[in-house]
Amino acid sequence: MRPSAFAALALAAPLGAQPAPPAQLDYPAERAAIGRYQDADQRLQDVGWTLAKGNVPFCPKLVPSIGLQLQDMASYGAPAVARKALGLKGDFAVQTAARGSPAALSGAFTRNREITGLDGFDPNQWPAQKALEWQRLVRAHDHLEATLTEHGGIAIGFADGTTAQIAPVQVCASRFELMGQGDKAVADGARVVIGLGFPAFSYSEEPVFAGLVAHEFAHNVLGHDAWLDRNGRQGKHVRRIEREADRLIPWLLANAGYDPQAAETFMTRWGSKHDSGLRLRIGHDGWDERAAAIAIEVVQVKALMAREGKADWRAHFRREIDPQGGLARTPKP
Ligand SMILES: [Zn+2]
Repeated sequence: MRPSAFAALALAAPLGAQPAPPAQLDYPAERAAIGRYQDADQRLQDVGWTLAKGNVPFCPKLVPSIGLQLQDMASYGAPAVARKALGLKGDFAVQTAARGSPAALSGAFTRNREITGLDGFDPNQWPAQKALEWQRLVRAHDHLEATLTEHGGIAIGFADGTTAQIAPVQVCASRFELMGQGDKAVADGARVVIGLGFPAFSYSEEPVFAGLVAHEFAHNVLGHDAWLDRNGRQGKHVRRIEREADRLIPWLLANAGYDPQAAETFMTRWGSKHDSGLRLRIGHDGWDERAAAIAIEVVQVKALMAREGKADWRAHFRREIDPQGGLARTPKP
């Protein structure tokens, strides 16, 4: 899945399979195409951060984060074109700083600002393939997270010679990634990956868009991918974890400060248009059933929010699977 993210962007931009010589390219148009992709990524990161921060008291695993996403020109189909379009000398620059994150609050991480240092390492110096290289960006993000975990902060150097020292905060462990093509949304335990073509990107209200992100995020915080690995991916199992992910949406939204009702709005708007409603399809109930199941949760979530000011899903959410299922029994001492 990873390779397609930025490879696809190069295709989405008017580079195509047979790129014209750079002199003939419309660089402002290239920059605008990249900008549209970055706008969508910013929206995803803002919502992802809000969910991952708001649910910290209940998530099984937390990680330190500053809410910064980088971009690597080497991951484009035509790195030289991307570099010139964005006015960069090197390959690494700011992609997004999630709203409200330490990176955003510092004011230092404006879009496309060139980065030359991650805790003393210049990622531009790391080897990369000539184009469509995605591993180096993953390496940079892994390095960032490892540094935050080990040192409780990171010094990030910019091409203009200045440095920003940023301290992280704890968030639920899940990355959020935008894919440049496709209309799918998936969660693999560590990442939520959403295609730029997913219909919810066109929903103007943030809480309704957040309903989609929360469904995928739910898969990660509920450990669904690992559970399926242990217990098998047959249809009846997939249905159960999909129901859980749907039903957890309003809980995740409420803790993040969104109206939990938006969960139902999301499912109704998306489902009535894009889901056939066929009962025979594998993995999901019909969208109307899914919306009805969410509506029941919304009532409980609203009551909890009124009473406790939080929707503690670790204590109150009814599971449809045994989350320990398939784990080896630990021998008694
Ligand atoms: Zn799902």
